[in-house]
Amino acid sequence: GSILDGLCAQPADPLLALIGMFRDDPRPGKIDMGVGVYRDADGKTPVMAAVKAAEAILLKDQQTKSYLGPEGDARFAELLTPIIFGDVDAARLCGVQTPGGTGALRLGAELLARGRAGTRVLVGTPTWPNHVPLMEAAGLKLVPFKHFDVATQALCFDETLAAINAAERGDVILLHGCCHNPTGADYTVEQWNTLAPLIAERGLLPFVDLAYQGLGHGLDADAAGLRAVVAHNPEVLVAYSCDKNFGLYRERVGALFVVSDRAELIQSNLLALARANWSMPPDHGAAIVRTILDSPELTASWRAELDAMRLRILGVREAVAAHDPAIDLTRQSGMFSMLSLSTEQIRALREVHAVYMAGSGRINVAGLTPDAIPAFAAAVAAVR
Ligand code: PMP
Repeated sequence: GSILDGLCAQPADPLLALIGMFRDDPRPGKIDMGVGVYRDADGKTPVMAAVKAAEAILLKDQQTKSYLGPEGDARFAELLTPIIFGDVDAARLCGVQTPGGTGALRLGAELLARGRAGTRVLVGTPTWPNHVPLMEAAGLKLVPFKHFDVATQALCFDETLAAINAAERGDVILLHGCCHNPTGADYTVEQWNTLAPLIAERGLLPFVDLAYQGLGHGLDADAAGLRAVVAHNPEVLVAYSCDKNFGLYRERVGALFVVSDRAELIQSNLLALARANWSMPPDHGAAIVRTILDSPELTASWRAELDAMRLRILGVREAVAAHDPAIDLTRQSGMFSMLSLSTEQIRALREVHAVYMAGSGRINVAGLTPDAIPAFAAAVAAVR
């Protein structure tokens, strides 16, 4: 027999199955709120203007495709730093380019496992489903606490504080920096200002996942929680993604940053781990981001388009609530909210009303074009 006889079949990603069902649905008014990518008012996910311009520059000016190194594009990481951290002591910061936010999370998880095998990671639930296999594959142990109560649509801040108070020194806490996926329920500034010093006092290590900066309340506002955490804690890990805020999804652009007094030691470990995983990250997406951020004109264009995306999402949230106050999406931020619906109601929305959403009740608000809003609100009211 073969070693591979030991394998058993794995379930397909349920979201991919949903994409297939939506594609094969012939009904003209069908609404897709399943997939987690931004859509404009025409239902498209366009390449951003600054990205197109940067690609034209790269096509014209790039002289070689020779290797960079395990750290990837160092200038890319350097240019992102003020956008993410604001003012930060560069001597206490290290970072490497990674294949997407996913690669950053995995590299961070492996760094933690290398620091101490079997490290526990507190995580509020529900969370991005891939957090779980990703952390476990690196050898970490997840300790869930309740982040959001779907039935009451309330963020469970008391549960968060209780989890931190019950944790052991040396545990890690994984936090969504902004635009929580899948609930859209973010901590307020006041709540961050309570959490950040408490995490330090309890001796926990914060690991912040920042995958949607600029899509909630603006670039600076979306980093306020992270900056509070950095201000109070001696060491912080940050997994960053440029895939949503630059619309670069398939190019896989991200970075892992670590704030620490031993930045040099940590950087050497990040490089070693990157080499063992992917040797070097893919270049193109990071080169695009670097080209944009190195140009004041392209940076202004990117910021303006990102702001327009953010305002469109806010507009959809307000329009839905105006249509039916019982569907109040205005208390969450970013692309996602999670509706309180049963499995049967979610199936009826799909089968009877051609409204597609994840089985958890997560909706991508950006999946709604203006003319689909009344139909969506009516469909939800009809199944409730
Ligand atoms: N973290 C969260 C919370 C996410 O939602 C995602 C993407 N769905 C990621 C990380 C990973 O992003 P990327 O596509 O850049 O790997």
